[in-house]
Parts: sequence; C-alpha cells; structure tokens
Amino acid sequence: MFMEESGWLTRSNERTVWFYPPGLEATGMVISGFSTRIGGVSGGPYSSLNQGLHVGDVTELVLKNRGILAEAAGLPPGSQVVPAQVHGDRVHLAEWSDAGAGARDLESSISDCDALITREPGLPLVTHHADCVALLILDPLKKAVGIAHAGWKGTRLRIGEKTVRAMGEAFGTRPEDCRVAISPSIGPCCYEVDAPLIEQFTAAFPYHSELLTPRPGQKAHLDLWEANRRPLIEIGVRDQNVFTSRLCTCCSPDYFYSYRREPGGVTGRMAAFIMLRPG
Ligand SMILES: [Zn+2]
Repeated sequence: MFMEESGWLTRSNERTVWFYPPGLEATGMVISGFSTRIGGVSGGPYSSLNQGLHVGDVTELVLKNRGILAEAAGLPPGSQVVPAQVHGDRVHLAEWSDAGAGARDLESSISDCDALITREPGLPLVTHHADCVALLILDPLKKAVGIAHAGWKGTRLRIGEKTVRAMGEAFGTRPEDCRVAISPSIGPCCYEVDAPLIEQFTAAFPYHSELLTPRPGQKAHLDLWEANRRPLIEIGVRDQNVFTSRLCTCCSPDYFYSYRREPGGVTGRMAAFIMLRPG
C-alpha cells in the first residue's frame, strides 16, 4: 500500500477521508491536515470534494464541500482565513479581524499572499493545492502556527524558511523548536521539469544534484519535498521534526486532484489546514 512509507496517516468519518501529520497532532495543540477528493458534491473534473473557488466549479457546490471537510476535521467553517495564492513569498500575520476572509468568496481572500501565520487559537489557516506542496508549521513553545503554499516558484523562493522567519519576528519562534509537515504534492516520480527551471534550481540551491534527477532530452525530475525540507534544516529546524508525507498527488487519482495529470489542468483543489486548538 502506498501509504506505508508516509509520515502522514488518514482519518475518516462517514463522509470523507483526509490526511494528517501525526508529528504535529501528537502535541495535542493543533488540528491539521490535507483533504482528499473523496465524499463531496462536485461533478466532472471536480469530482467530488473540490475546495477551490477559482477553478471553474459551481460556487454553491464548493461551499458545500468546504462545509463537509470542516465538519469532518473539526474546523469552524465561517472563520477560515484563505489567501489568494500567487506563487509568491509574502507572509501575512492573520488576526481575528481576518476571520472568514476568503471562506465564502474569492474577493475577500487575503490578496497577494502564499503564507499565513497566527497565534490565535481557533483561527483556521487554509491553503489550496492540486500538485503544490503545503508546509504546516507548529511552534509548540510560543504556541503559534503557520501554513505556506509552495509550488516550484515558492519553493525556489524558500517560502518555508521565510514563513518560519516571519514567525520568529512576530512571535519569537526559534526554528529548532518548530515541527513542520510537508504535505502530499506531485512527487519526484512524476514532476518532470525542463531546462529553464533546471537552471533556476541549479543557481538557487548548492545541493541541486540532490533535488534534480536527470532525464533524457535536457529534462529532470524535481523533488519538491527535499527542496522544501533542506532550507528548513539549514536554518535550524531539526531533522526529526520534519514530517514528509511522500504521497504523490499525480500518482494517486483516487485520493487527489493533480494539475499535471489532468488534461488542460482542469481539476479541483485539496485544502491544507492548520488551527491551534482553543483552550
Ligand atoms: Zn508520482
């Protein structure tokens, strides 16, 4: 079974299934995870638990799907904070005044933003993914959390490192205290990239040979999991505190949407989420 070597596990209710990182949840301090496409009401290429409002699905159905996930995972549906992801590296400090931003429409989402941090218990941070990585971050000492969306652009921009640093500035977070979970995403098995991207990663990462596996025709397979893990280790996150799911969205059509796999990229989105438990 493909989950055997994963650092994440599944939970389910009578309706849906989702993945969660035991390494974060063992603290008892957070609700965190990554949804699947199982158990929703959307049809066609969005079948069935699509969480993305920006992909051409029917809004009413997406909101129903968000409600199904929220109920299953134990998240308050109305107060979710959702960024308008742009493959950048801006980190937003979320406070209660942001509660519900992007929860029910695109217009109110946190603009130009790919990472959120907060110290507010009960305030869920949510990002949306087809093949991109989600980084879920917990500082159990300062009682703070962060979430980041990392496709190849965010990965090259070291958005995980920048999110941990932003938690440092805002909350006094130290990298050595953090626990970080790396979500399902397109894996090194499927993520073929071409020369321009290979050049960018070669320039940006001294250990690029460990991230890129050469393929015929000046192409390579890129390991987004390792490319996100290494910068975190470099700033002091402990190896044993990084929990990588190692599940490939492109390889697992029963569980996951995949932009790369679907014709024209027309597909749904999974939600990544993290919330400090209240009380
Ligand atoms: Zn794969």
